[in-house]
Amino acid sequence: MKAAVVRDFTAPLVVEDHPVPEPAAHQVRVRIEASGLCHTDIHAAHGDWPVKPSPPFVPGHEGVGIVEAAGDLVRHVRVGERVAIPWLADACGRCDHCVSGWETLCLQQHNSGYSVDGAYAEYALAHGDYVVPVPDGIDPLDAAPLSCAGVTTYKALKVSGAGPGTRVLVSGIGGLGHLALQYARVFGAETIAVDVTDDKLALARELGADHVLDARTQDVAAQVQARGGAHAAIALAVSNASFQAAYGALRRGGTLVLVALPAGGKLELPVFETVLNGTKVIGSIVGTREDLAEVFRLHALGRTRVIRESRRLDDVNACFDEVLSGKVSARLVFDLR
Ligand code: NAD
Ligand code: ZN
Ligand code: ZN
Repeated sequence: MKAAVVRDFTAPLVVEDHPVPEPAAHQVRVRIEASGLCHTDIHAAHGDWPVKPSPPFVPGHEGVGIVEAAGDLVRHVRVGERVAIPWLADACGRCDHCVSGWETLCLQQHNSGYSVDGAYAEYALAHGDYVVPVPDGIDPLDAAPLSCAGVTTYKALKVSGAGPGTRVLVSGIGGLGHLALQYARVFGAETIAVDVTDDKLALARELGADHVLDARTQDVAAQVQARGGAHAAIALAVSNASFQAAYGALRRGGTLVLVALPAGGKLELPVFETVLNGTKVIGSIVGTREDLAEVFRLHALGRTRVIRESRRLDDVNACFDEVLSGKVSARLVFDLR
């Protein structure tokens, strides 16, 4: 099978021939149809974060495909079913986080395309209990971005406290942000979209943002404060400056949800204002299997639109450059069919 491999944090990925893997008793082998390119894969390939993956590894945690073989212990999915392979490759299933619906905080988790090989390949192995069924009628090229960009932003909106009549700032209208904006509307919020490229600002308007701000030329915090401030700000831009702007846009009692993970990311908070304003700052990491099932149901109901372009896995390095140069409409998806 073909697989794109990170061999070195400072070198391009190499597309190689690998043996098709055999599932262990608890695993399924998935014939990948579509595999999304999340900005996280670029951080992984560059070794950007304090906890680094160990090359060689296959990135990819927006994998969607058909279960082709299943080990003896697999009970919840069948051969022939379409499933998603998300970031949470598996968790212990027994700790307090796992049993209280916070499996994404499990200390013993593995992560697809990071600590275990991911979906930048024609086949991938996955834990039978942690793949998520994709409902019939959802295009695999849509299901792929929903498996990380979708579930991550849906969860971020949930924890933000956004609801009808609240004002939500979405900072960064990329792969994650274009879906965050749609979930904010699903939650009934007034939406403010921020980006730094003309195409993304146009996309935000097309997706129904109530207000659109260009962080290159506008003072985001001042503009949002002039409207009364944001109840919630979702930080999705790979930029430290954008965190500061999102914090500054909050109204009293507002919540900043940190999602983007720029290399060496830091946010400096003024303690006095944070205390007196009752500001909440929370980190949010992907979402659970149940969150992803909800994301798929919303998409099947027609509540979300995935903006994506398909690419060949052989072009993976050019695709990374496209994302980094801000030229992508929202999400790139490798079509492996
Ligand atoms: P992306 O490259 O598709 O989107 C980033 C967007 O931010 C682009 O549209 C870009 O134009 C915009 N941007 C850049 N500078 C800006 C600024 N100063 N103000 C406003 N917008 C600006 O990336 P993505 O795939 O959406 O991922 C975004 C980040 O989220 C990455 O760091 C990724 O690793 C992280 N991520 C986190 C989680 C999580 O669970 N916390 C999950 C997935 C991705
Ligand atoms: Zn991701
Ligand atoms: Zn656990």
